[in-house]
Amino acid sequence: MSPSKMSLSSPDISKAEIAAAVRVLQSGRLSLGHELELFEKEMARYVGTKCAVAVSSGTAGLHCLVRALGIAEGDEVITSPFSFIASANCILFEKAKPIFVDIDPNTLCFDTEKIEEKITPRTRAILAVHILGIPCQMDRVQQIAKKHNLFVIEDACEAIGATWREKKVGSIGNAGVFAFYPNKQMTTGEGGVITTDDAGLAEICRSLRNQGRSTQDSYLFERLGYNYRLTDFQAAIGRVQLDRIDQMLEKRRRVADWYFEALNGVEGVVLPLRSGSGAESWFIFLIRLSEAYSSTDRDRLRQLLLQDGIETGAYFSPIHLQPFYQSEFGFKEGDFPVTEQAAERTMALPFHNQLSRDEVRYIAEKVMLHLEHVGEKVNG
Ligand SMILES: *Cc1c(COP(=O)(O)O)cnc(C)c1O
Repeated sequence: MSPSKMSLSSPDISKAEIAAAVRVLQSGRLSLGHELELFEKEMARYVGTKCAVAVSSGTAGLHCLVRALGIAEGDEVITSPFSFIASANCILFEKAKPIFVDIDPNTLCFDTEKIEEKITPRTRAILAVHILGIPCQMDRVQQIAKKHNLFVIEDACEAIGATWREKKVGSIGNAGVFAFYPNKQMTTGEGGVITTDDAGLAEICRSLRNQGRSTQDSYLFERLGYNYRLTDFQAAIGRVQLDRIDQMLEKRRRVADWYFEALNGVEGVVLPLRSGSGAESWFIFLIRLSEAYSSTDRDRLRQLLLQDGIETGAYFSPIHLQPFYQSEFGFKEGDFPVTEQAAERTMALPFHNQLSRDEVRYIAEKVMLHLEHVGEKVNG
């Protein structure tokens, strides 16, 4: 078994993506060309929105939206502390304040029943993170947003293809964002897409990604903008990946099923949430050690697995406990206990399209073997 196959993630790049990139590189049109337009059209069609705007990363997409919605200093945005840091940083970019809501221990998405108590006259938006490809309770989010007149941004960076009541994530709130870093379900190397039904909002994002240019007159700069453009060869890769996405998601689902089969009933291991309806989009395979284990046990287990060539990840370190969040906002340990407990004992196992059933079995065996050792003091 080659060690590379035991890596945490691995992009699925076929000959078609390589050919598409080469074709664009030979065409001479490397940016703001036809491939970009087509990629946007195809993304909008896939997600089910009227508009899509491609950008250089998921973070850039989130920033464009926060900016385009006019969220600024003094404003508050409600979001989750159990996420990749970019989903909160995009609020800080505009000097607004992230207001965290602790998570639901089952879905690991923010607990929508705890949102309303955090709303103040300064609240402008809810930034819902569909974490690990599990959709948030969007009915509640939309209902609360409507009642309090708030925008809804969906961070769907880990959730392409996931659905909430038959609608794809990214098409439910005012806008959604997808990301294409190589560990995501599909990749363009770096990249992202904003999806929305609001043509005016899409127009502002289109201008923001291209230095604030007018989308009508390229010598007119209407606002302070950025260079958040995606190249045409990345767009071409994205088009092929999108064409293959359902098949790639199906493969990921199968790998998840093998993990369930291999780890089912193992004492001390809590398996991730699985809807059974296929509503989630498998991003990573995150197991949780039971309460008998500490974060030190988890880290020892990770170390032992690494010695067997199995790479794992400690997802996620809570955002509110990052040093600059603590110093800027005064967050401290104990502020969001469900998030902190989940973060202490969770661990991502290798998870990508190319894993075989035997490899999954091998990983599961090693998890069981080493778990006995790290747990010795617990079991006597
Ligand atoms: C990956 C990710 C992002 C950011 O995407 P980049 O393309 O890496 O900038 C934002 N939010 C979440 C939840 C992510 O997982």
